[in-house]
Amino acid sequence: METPPPTARLTIDTGALVANWRTLAAAAAGADCGAAIKADGYGLGAPAVLAALARAGARDFFVAHWQEVTALGGLPAGVRLAVLHGFAPDQLAAALAWPAVPVLNTAAQVQAWRATGRPCDVMVDTGLNRLGLSPAEAVSGLLDGLTIDTLHSHLACAEMPGDPLNERQRAAFADIVARVPARRYALANSGGIGLGAGYRFGLVRPGIGLFGGGDGPNGGDLRRVAGLSAQILQIRQVEPGDSVGYGATFTARRPTRLATVAIGYADGYPRSLSDPPVSAAAMIAGIRCPLAGRISMDLASFDVTDAPTLAEGDWIDLDFDLARTAVAAGRTQYELLTGLGRRYARVYR
Ligand SMILES: *Cc1c(COP(=O)(O)O)cnc(C)c1O
Repeated sequence: METPPPTARLTIDTGALVANWRTLAAAAAGADCGAAIKADGYGLGAPAVLAALARAGARDFFVAHWQEVTALGGLPAGVRLAVLHGFAPDQLAAALAWPAVPVLNTAAQVQAWRATGRPCDVMVDTGLNRLGLSPAEAVSGLLDGLTIDTLHSHLACAEMPGDPLNERQRAAFADIVARVPARRYALANSGGIGLGAGYRFGLVRPGIGLFGGGDGPNGGDLRRVAGLSAQILQIRQVEPGDSVGYGATFTARRPTRLATVAIGYADGYPRSLSDPPVSAAAMIAGIRCPLAGRISMDLASFDVTDAPTLAEGDWIDLDFDLARTAVAAGRTQYELLTGLGRRYARVYR
């Protein structure tokens, strides 16, 4: 039996994705440019993101969990995949069977992995204090005899160029680079690429910038990748004084046409966008049609009175500008993308 097609669509502009990777790669001048595709490619579909970026020439990909390796299926020839979380003691045997290398974070992981004789990546913590060996551990001889492909560290404040922790981390990492042999070294995420040549080393690991988030290495030079659209389930007319939605937070002041679509907070369309000042909107023929009433779990209604005539079954685009939506919703751009939910038809253009 065939399932009726979804009434909500997440459109992924793979041309924009590739353009953003090229922009970041150019800004990383000289360093290899990889891609962080954890959390299902920041919510946009890791297999398709991997395929598009590998075709464009990306060779180094990063996920967080081993099940994210499994979910990718096979890897294109020449692609290298690393698992940022390393491995838990009971994951080692299974991890060895997959075409990915762990990023080792602890002394115990180093000791267990060394016995396999296989190459790996290593994370050194230079100030984020989350995962990774301490700088003292890294230079203690613990890593002797290990075949390190890429030695990593990760910045805490890359989005804040003026924060002095950036330079402290860069200097601490440069010291480790001078003392621990590896094929390559990597420090910068998307934000780190714009911090300057001293942050780029041999490889950069952008994530959010690939998907159009953040400012881009030269400020505002990244393209939008994700778009939301939905099919109108119902059009209704309400009269002045009628309220709309849970809590009756919207009251019509004029005869109002409403279009109700199947995108709600369970689809990652944040309910907080319906708090005053209401900033959610649909864009119909260039006309901004504001949300009317609260976003509910599965539905949202828009005031389409000023839009050209619409019919039930028509598709409308939602305003999903990442920077604006993040501010309006009180979320980060990362949360918006990774929270998008599983009910959309994902359409790759
Ligand atoms: C997620 C992640 C990245 C990518 O960060 P963005 O800020 O999305 O560019 C890079 N490195 C590590 C270790 C990460 O966990």
